[in-house]
Amino acid sequence: MKAYRTLDDMGDISGKRVLVREDLNVPMADGVVTDDMRFRASVVTVAELADRGAIVLILSHFGRPEGPDPALSLAPMAKPYGTVLGRPVHFIDWDDAADAVSSLAPGDIALLENTRFFAGERQNDPAVIARFAALGDLYVNDAFSAAHRAHASTEGLAHALPAFAGRSMQAELDALNKALGHPEHPVAAVVGGAKISTKLGVLRHLVEKVDHLIIGGAMANTFLAARGVNIGNSLCEHHLAETAEAIFAAAEAANCTIHLPYDVVVAKEFRANPPTRTVNVHEVAQDEMILDIGPAAVEALGDVLKNCRTLVWNGPLGAFEIPPFDTATVALARVAAALTRDGTLVSVAGGGDTVAALNHAGVAADFSFISTAGGAFLEWMEGRDLPGVAALTHLPPNG
Ligand code: ADP
Ligand code: MG
Repeated sequence: MKAYRTLDDMGDISGKRVLVREDLNVPMADGVVTDDMRFRASVVTVAELADRGAIVLILSHFGRPEGPDPALSLAPMAKPYGTVLGRPVHFIDWDDAADAVSSLAPGDIALLENTRFFAGERQNDPAVIARFAALGDLYVNDAFSAAHRAHASTEGLAHALPAFAGRSMQAELDALNKALGHPEHPVAAVVGGAKISTKLGVLRHLVEKVDHLIIGGAMANTFLAARGVNIGNSLCEHHLAETAEAIFAAAEAANCTIHLPYDVVVAKEFRANPPTRTVNVHEVAQDEMILDIGPAAVEALGDVLKNCRTLVWNGPLGAFEIPPFDTATVALARVAAALTRDGTLVSVAGGGDTVAALNHAGVAADFSFISTAGGAFLEWMEGRDLPGVAALTHLPPNG
């Protein structure tokens, strides 16, 4: 049973004003939207509500203004967003919002101005919550990627109006629950990338949850160094040696196997296609950098995945932006994709660079689920309660 209500639980909403929190914080360059993934993620919910006759009022933040800032207005977004929705989108400024909303008809869609034009949005200020709540009858939160923040439009509103999870939020929660909440074992986690210090909480939580923790990327260097391996000139956080040891100990206590690479690809320069060597981890020279894990390690990790039922992945295994150091990430991603297509593996991935790497490998569509969230995905991997999600499970005042 799900602990939150969805659009299925809304009943007859025709003529009702529904405030929908989306995350339309898309990347823009020179007034043009450069990646509309978040627009597309919102379509299912917005279209369904409009088709059911609701007056759809979309709330989103954009950038990090501390108050009104014309450069961060959502007004220029209404048209490109409408193109993605395939329906017209009205734009409503905060000044005359109540009047503008009252002139809308059932089935209309309107985008409200940037929620962060109120400084109190980020403080979850009751006055701002009341201002938003006065415009609507019901609240839908469809923005998992903003759910790690307790802001007025992401958390406070859920206590002020009857609250529901949108389709995108629901899909994200279902997938994440399948991957770490109630997964089929054995479970593998791949954690890579550059900075171990920002992902320590993730590793601590994962050793308690998964059967196999696969560590790659520069993250692996910190663990190898902690074990006394000479990693030469590699990117590494040497001061975290004790923390790495504590994670080894916690893994052993929890029966989680940690996999570190035993062969690596090294180079002396951080640039495309430099001279490289593929060596055992114990053979790295002082002036060399580990920039990818090696083919023997990839093959062994592929065998681990073949015996697993669930995979959660954050962080590339190498410096994938620079050829040929994308090799291991692409190869293991293809193994995971094939196992997913065969139906033996549920695969969930998230993180900005991870999603870029999976797209680069051409396998994003084969994964069971790709999270559009960055920070929220990592906080979820740490096992934290996300305030925007927790608020949806509270009973609303009059719902
Ligand atoms: P995500 O955004 O998916 O959470 P991160 O930001 O933690 O991932 O890590 C991605 C970065 O890690 C990439 O820029 C990649 O080049 C870098 N990286 C991975 N392996 C190495 C390595 N061995 N040496 C240096 N950088 C690495
Ligand atoms: Mg990143």
